Amino acid sequence: MKMTDLIAAKRDGKALSTEEIGWMIQGYTEGSIPDYQMSAMCMAILLRGMDDREMLDLTLAMMDSGEVLDLSPIEGVKGDKHSTGGVGDKTSLVLCPMVAACGLKIAKMSGRGLGHTGGTIDKLESFPGFSTQLSEEQFFDNVNRHGIALMGQTKDMVPADRKLYALRDVTGTVPSIPLIVSSIMSKKLASGADVIVLDVKCGDGAFMKTPKDAEELARNLTRIGRLAGKKCAAIITDMDQPLGRAVGNALEVKEAIAALKGEDPEGDLMRLCLALGSCLLTGAGFAADFEEAEAQLREAVDSGRALDKLAELVSAQGGDAAAVYDTALLPCAPVQREVPSAEAGYVSRIRAEAVGLVSMGLGGGRTKKGDRIDLSVGVVLHKKLGDAVREGESLATVHAASEAAAEEAAEKLRQCYDLSPEPVERPLIVKGVV
Ligand code: URA
Repeated sequence: MKMTDLIAAKRDGKALSTEEIGWMIQGYTEGSIPDYQMSAMCMAILLRGMDDREMLDLTLAMMDSGEVLDLSPIEGVKGDKHSTGGVGDKTSLVLCPMVAACGLKIAKMSGRGLGHTGGTIDKLESFPGFSTQLSEEQFFDNVNRHGIALMGQTKDMVPADRKLYALRDVTGTVPSIPLIVSSIMSKKLASGADVIVLDVKCGDGAFMKTPKDAEELARNLTRIGRLAGKKCAAIITDMDQPLGRAVGNALEVKEAIAALKGEDPEGDLMRLCLALGSCLLTGAGFAADFEEAEAQLREAVDSGRALDKLAELVSAQGGDAAAVYDTALLPCAPVQREVPSAEAGYVSRIRAEAVGLVSMGLGGGRTKKGDRIDLSVGVVLHKKLGDAVREGESLATVHAASEAAAEEAAEKLRQCYDLSPEPVERPLIVKGVV
């Protein structure tokens, strides 16, 4: 086989065979196919697309480029969730204990934050002592004992995606549906769960800016997941403003704990977790429909079992579970500064990505892999889309390491808000289920 022939075939709109796709991904992962040829192929795929069979073959070839977790030593149905990434997205911290308290096994690989979006691993490290460096044996053992374990992605899984994603990033080929789908689903399939729910974010702070694009991605992701033999659903969710109120690691953990205590049962965060959790519980056969699933999830919160499950997870992975019940034990920034509104009105826009960048500027996020982050800093939004604001009322609180950092962040945060003299409708967090 010659890579030039494969590039020409895709350039001319032809479908690549299963063997060709497998050969190409293996060659690129091993280094026998150079970046310049793979770049041309990515651009041809972006321009010409792929049919379902090709997309599935690409996904499976990428999955097979490295280690594939066999979760069969874990008893029961295993669930997993993926988010396409947003600002203030602490969903996993709430959802995973909730569904685990309902009996679904959670053996989850999570990532660290990069850029304006955060990562679950960093957030969990707000618990003093918490470690995600588990051996495979410990990971399985913890899931069998506690119903839940979270660990960092291993370097051995889906090496093809690591290389390809870096290449796409510098060749203008990130926004290609077949390339995004194979990237996301190869990692999900390699993680081995039986039931997968995907949270496809849509809006200013998200990868997909419009509902149409988000829906197209969601439909393709679920189709490939189902063709690969998984129970798979996707939810399209609003990211035109940060999710919930907190953006920043320990601040998000505090908000997640409040949600698990049932403190804001109709808030965006809980509504989203109920929707994602209902997909998982119905997919696993634990509930006949969304209504029954939601009742189970609400009961797990109201009884305190979901919060206890988080404490069990933290303790099992070496963290101080006392912080689950007393959040004063979590990292806390030395400076807190309010952001008063210069005018009265209704919040008509909150630039989600810019809010994420404010938190990152405070030291809460990374500009490049390996950067150290300050777990205590970030922002808490008091006003969300549609809220009425009086002149001088606080829009948000900045949590910073110094007065100077707080001052700079407060000014930037004020600019993230637009106010309108007319009332503004509040957006629904769940825009659709696929
Ligand atoms: N997230 C991924 O993991 N891969 C993509 O291609 C896009 C978003």
